[in-house]
Amino acid sequence: MPNEKKKKQKQSSVSELYKIDGDKIAPKNKSCPKCGAGVFLAQHENRESCGKCGYTVFKSSVKK
Ligand SMILES: [Zn+2]
Repeated sequence: MPNEKKKKQKQSSVSELYKIDGDKIAPKNKSCPKCGAGVFLAQHENRESCGKCGYTVFKSSVKK
């Protein structure tokens, strides 16, 4: 039987949305490919969308 004294923290999907640099957590939102850098896509449950031009990209790797 494996000893589960030290349970390794499983990487959650949060690490996909945020860039964890030391103890700093910065949002890793993608910028809109149409509007360019500076315009970030709004995060939704299963998609990201640009509030400026309406560009929407569906997240394909969302697992719960
Ligand atoms: Zn846009």
